[in-house]
This record gives sequence, C-alpha cells and structure tokens, in this order.
Amino acid sequence: MNENLSNLLYLISIASFILALKFLSSPATARRGNQIGAAGMVLAIAVTLAKDGLDTGTYWLIAIAALIGSAIGVVGARKVKMTAMPQMVALFNGVGGGAVALVALAEYHNTIREHVGPTWDISLAIGVSGLIGSVSFAGSIIAFAKLQELIHGRPITYPGQKIVNLAILGAGIGLAIAIAAGYQATWALIVELILALAFGVLFVLPIGGADMPVVISLLNAFTGIAAAASGFELGSNVLIVSGMLVGASGTLLTLMMGRAMNRSIGNVLFGAFGQIQAGVGEAGPAASGAVRSTSAEDVAIMLAYARKVIIVPGYGLAVAQAQHNVRELADELERRNVEVVYAIHPVAGRMPGHMNVLLAEANVPYTALKEMEEVNPEFPQAEVALVIGANDVTNPAARSNPASPIYGMPILDVDKAQAIVVMKRSMRPGFAGIDNELYLDPKCMMLFGDAKESVIKLLSAVKAL
Ligand code: NDP
Repeated sequence: MNENLSNLLYLISIASFILALKFLSSPATARRGNQIGAAGMVLAIAVTLAKDGLDTGTYWLIAIAALIGSAIGVVGARKVKMTAMPQMVALFNGVGGGAVALVALAEYHNTIREHVGPTWDISLAIGVSGLIGSVSFAGSIIAFAKLQELIHGRPITYPGQKIVNLAILGAGIGLAIAIAAGYQATWALIVELILALAFGVLFVLPIGGADMPVVISLLNAFTGIAAAASGFELGSNVLIVSGMLVGASGTLLTLMMGRAMNRSIGNVLFGAFGQIQAGVGEAGPAASGAVRSTSAEDVAIMLAYARKVIIVPGYGLAVAQAQHNVRELADELERRNVEVVYAIHPVAGRMPGHMNVLLAEANVPYTALKEMEEVNPEFPQAEVALVIGANDVTNPAARSNPASPIYGMPILDVDKAQAIVVMKRSMRPGFAGIDNELYLDPKCMMLFGDAKESVIKLLSAVKAL
C-alpha cells in the first residue's frame, strides 16, 4: 500500500476516534460511539499490516497473537459482571502500558544492534514511553489485584514511603535522561524499566481500594501519553493522535472524578484514604441501636400514596441486579400517578456512569435520570426518598462531620426528603468503610434484605393495594 493511501486511511481512523469520543459523551449515543471507535481501530490495524516494508514472514506470528488476544478480549468482555468492570479496565489498561514499554525496549535494542543508534528525539521517546508504560503496567496490575481482592484494599503504608518512592522514580528518570542524552546500552533501559515497575507497584499500594477507579483513570491517561511517545518511535501519526486522545480524556476524567468526591488528585494519590481511623465508623449506628426497620407492606403504602418519589440507586443495586425490577416498580407507581425520578450521584457505584448504564439496560428513560445538582433541590418536595443499595453518596457526615474521611464530598440531599427508606442487607458500611449517620435520622426506615428480593416484594405489595 502506498504512503498517500495509508495516510488517508489513517486520517479516517483518527477522525473516527474523535467522533467516537463525541458520541460516548451521551448515554443515548454511547453504543454507536463504541462501534465507530472499534471500526476505526480495525482500520488502523489493517492499514498498518498492509503497509510497505513489513516483514511478511512474520505475518503468521502476528495472526496467532491477534487471535489469542481477540479471544481473550471477547470472552472477557462478555463474561465480566458490570460490578467488575473497573478491574477489567485496569487489566486492559495495564496490558497497553506493558506493550508500550516492550516496544520501547525492542526499538532501542534494534537500533543499537544495527549500530545506527537512535537519534536524540527517538531516544527521548524511548526513555519516556518505557518509563510511563512500565509505571502504568505495574500500577494497573496492583489496582486490579486490590479491586479483585487478591490483595487487601486498604492503603498499605510504612514510614519513609514517599522518600523511597521518590528515590526510585528519580533514579528511573535519571536513566531516561541519560538515554535521551545519547547513552547507548540496553542494560540502562532494562534497569529503567525495572525501577519504573517497582515505582508503579509502590505508588499504588498506599492508595485505598475506594480510590482505585480514580487511579485507574489516571493510569489510563499515562498509558495514552506513553502510547503517543511510542508513536514517535515508530513514526506512526495514528498512534500519536490516538495516544494523546486517551491521555487527554483520561486526565479530564480523573479531574472530574476528583471534583465529584471533592478531593484533590494529590489527596487521592498521597492521602492513604480508607485507612482505619480511630473514632470514625468503627462503631456507630450499628452499635447505637437507634435504627428503625420496616416492612415491604408499610413502604408500599407510603409509595403508592405519595405524589413524588425519588429513587436513589447505588452500588448495591448493581450487585443485586435489581434494575429491571426497579423499572417495573416505577412503572407501577407511575400508573398510580406518582411522579418517579432517579437521583444520580456522579460517583454512585464503582465507575463513572455506572448507574446510567445500569438503568439504561432496564430501558429507564434518560429523561427520568437527574444529576445531583438538578435533583437536590427536589428532595424536600419528595414524600419518599427510596435509597436502593446506595450508602456513601447519601451520608450527611460529608456535610457535617469534619472528622469524616468523606467530609466535603458533595452528596445527594436524601435527608431533606419527607421520609427516607433505605434498602440494604445489613448495617455494613459502603466502600468508604464508614457508618452512615442517615440511618439514625428519625425520618429514616431500613428495609433490610437483598435489593432485588425487596423490590419484588414491594412491587407485589403495591399491586395488592
Ligand atoms: P457504597 O459502596 O457506599 O454502598 C453500597 C451499599 O450497597 C453497601 O452499603 C451495601 O450494604 C449495599 N449492598 C451491597 N449489595 C447489596 C445487595 N445485594 N442488596 C442490597 N444492598 C446491597 O455505594 P454508593 O454507590 O453509595 O457509593 C459509591 C462509593 O464508591 C463511594 O464511596 C465512591 O466514592 C466510591 N467510588 C466510586 C467511583 C465511581 O466512579 N462510581 C469511583 C471511585 C470510588 P449491605 O452490605 O449492608 O447490603
């Protein structure tokens, strides 16, 4: 394939990546965005394989690798549960970072072996992509292990940790600078990669499990930047542009998630959020015994005769897979002229957009979903706030208790509703590991049980009225 044609086709795949991002920004068009992005990627791979200068003797090796990778990707994506999506993203992101680091190693080794030596700009790209790609690989694997509970989710800290991390990173950057300055020895890059891998592990270990999705988003941005640097090594414009798109969107997502939790990125990365803290959350509502529990029949009466009900979905809804039953309950209430809206907190669940995706799966209309800023003023008018498997995002301690680890996080003003019903299985805390003051509110009633079973009971009790 000649160069003009391949450049034109690359331009089309770059345009499709940009369009994909545009479509992904709305739940209504996200599926199409995904398809456009995938088509652009297939085109970019096909053009790269058809380009002049590729050693055709190695096609079979590429084909075998592509087949294995595709099979793992398809089976993994089909089997993964929605609640395990963050760890899947971590794993895929880590693999991308690792691939970039290996490309850097191969390019460096080849140019040295052929006695041509890389030029300074290519050496710089090799040093940078090797460093960032390795950090991203090792960090993502630790994030995966924490989320999958292969290792403990709580922050792992020890004295002098930041100094040790800084020293390892400094040594890695030093080697990257030496390589960029023209020092040519494969061992130097290998040591740089090992230091970067060690830094990736040590940098993520002190971060708590609850902050992993933010870390994954940041590491995703790292992988994008490393891939863009890799594009310079390989002379591939499509890789440079797509890497920068991933880098920019990952950075924006990281900042937006931080803002939604009212946490700076520095606090997420170095605050060891989620450590056991004396006096916070270890004893609380569960110990005080001032919690009122209720029955599905009583809640059904409240719901059926309300004018407005706000449903507050959270992680537990995803665990219970109760979205279809919730939709049926909302339909039944609407038939009885009850206005039903859904309050969506930006970090409810375990990944950005988790609740939107979950409810879209049950065909809940997008118009019924209201963002936090929009729905918060509506809580005082709601006769019932029905909290289904949400916990941290409703905890008033975020407003009132400066000692709470979630202090300052914007929350859904559930406590301002006229009555509150919380559906969960026990008094166990949510992801932040702290008790919820809401459950002590005299307006609050607990409907204990699996969210799906409780919603089914509620629906039949409403129908029986
Ligand atoms: P939480 O993790 O605070 O609480 C979920 C609750 O669901 C638990 O208290 C649990 O209680 C209950 N639950 C679990 N399984 C079931 C079930 N089968 N039936 C009924 N209830 C169930 O969830 P939220 O959505 O309120 O908050 C999300 C948390 O995740 C926040 O701390 C947020 O900062 C964090 N986070 C979210 C990110 C995102 O992008 N969405 C990113 C980073 C962090 P019980 O065990 O008693 O049933």
